Amino acid sequence: MKYSYVTHLICAKCKSEYSIKEKYQLCTCGSPLLVEYDWEALKKVLHPEDLAARESTLWRYHEMLPVERSENVVSQGEGMTPLLAMPSLGRHMNIKQLYMKDEGLIPTGTFKARGAAVGVSKAKELGVEEFAMPTNGNAGAAWALYGAKAGITATIVMPQDAPKITRNETAMSGANLYLVNGLISDAGKIVKEAVEIFNLYDASTLKEPYRIEGKKTMGLEIAEQMGWTMPDVILYPTGGGVGLIGIYKALKELKKLGWVSGKLPRLVAVQSSGCAPIVKAWEEKKTESQFWEKSDTIAFGINVPKAIGDFLVLDAIYGTNGCAVAIDDDVMLSEQQNLARMEGSFICPEGAAVFAAIRKLRQEDWIKENETVVALNTGAGIKYPDTVEVDVEVLEKDSSLKRI
Ligand SMILES: *Cc1c(COP(=O)(O)O)cnc(C)c1O
Ligand SMILES: [Zn+2]
Repeated sequence: MKYSYVTHLICAKCKSEYSIKEKYQLCTCGSPLLVEYDWEALKKVLHPEDLAARESTLWRYHEMLPVERSENVVSQGEGMTPLLAMPSLGRHMNIKQLYMKDEGLIPTGTFKARGAAVGVSKAKELGVEEFAMPTNGNAGAAWALYGAKAGITATIVMPQDAPKITRNETAMSGANLYLVNGLISDAGKIVKEAVEIFNLYDASTLKEPYRIEGKKTMGLEIAEQMGWTMPDVILYPTGGGVGLIGIYKALKELKKLGWVSGKLPRLVAVQSSGCAPIVKAWEEKKTESQFWEKSDTIAFGINVPKAIGDFLVLDAIYGTNGCAVAIDDDVMLSEQQNLARMEGSFICPEGAAVFAAIRKLRQEDWIKENETVVALNTGAGIKYPDTVEVDVEVLEKDSSLKRI
């Protein structure tokens, strides 16, 4: 049996095909490339039961991942994060089956480790020596650290006001780190030029085809953790949108394998009202988004004014009867507190946006009381130490506690 049943790359727009053996970035038409597999062969050799005894990392799905030789796998044990029931919050929102897929419990503290693990492993297999990428912080930190483990040089450009912890993580890895006095789109321009001049591998979102394969494992895991069934609704905090595109791809692939059946979950893209290009496009029934001017939100991971894969995100929403929701930053913050108080989870602001969206959609009856709802919390709250401000009383050394 082969380690991977990967066959080729295919353009998401014009359907041109490319070899899996060489370094490709975008299609000549400018669109992202997606990874294809031999589903007919895979159907015969792989069955859900085969996975039961495997290691609890995302590499348990290696036949449906693009790395062809196991010795190229660069892993820190990422994947198989818990799917937690949220009974107290569920009661508060009047939803009987509310779950959180908690990506805070993963190396580097955000789900970006999934994309980095598979993306860096495949880069190693393709002989990449140096890659460059723009980032809002979390992806850069993950790719820099996985790059260090793989022996690949990373050049990372991030906004000056990206969360400081991600800057430190990236610098600690020994990567070439640059800060830009601007947004991720400005970092993107700088990387684009550097890639051309220095002939680097461009690891920008969707400009390399493999990180989406890492991110799709969130969808595979949700189905496996639910006993190869699918929830009614999955909500995801959407920046570049690769997570959502990946989950959609994963669930369609599982259907091809016959491992799940029935209607796909309604997929919901959640954004901040300070940067909501996908929501605007969805409300206007468009198939592409427009650059969001002067974007601003505390949820740094979803501050993406224009995503190169926007048409794929919208396709996933339309294709599943989903929707797109924008949440104000202050609403996000109060929901973040609800999570900590009711469920003991300190989640990231992006994840909190998702729960605020669930509350809103339940109030509007778009989500029904008896539906099974899965929220993606994409990272740990402790990666954003400065987002939360608390008032705490300072005691004099010899004072005692006064309780009423
Ligand atoms: C990057 C990021 C997102 C957005 O992910 P995309 O797949 O790019 O849409 C959401 N949350 C966190 C914490 C992130 O770092
Ligand atoms: Zn094309």
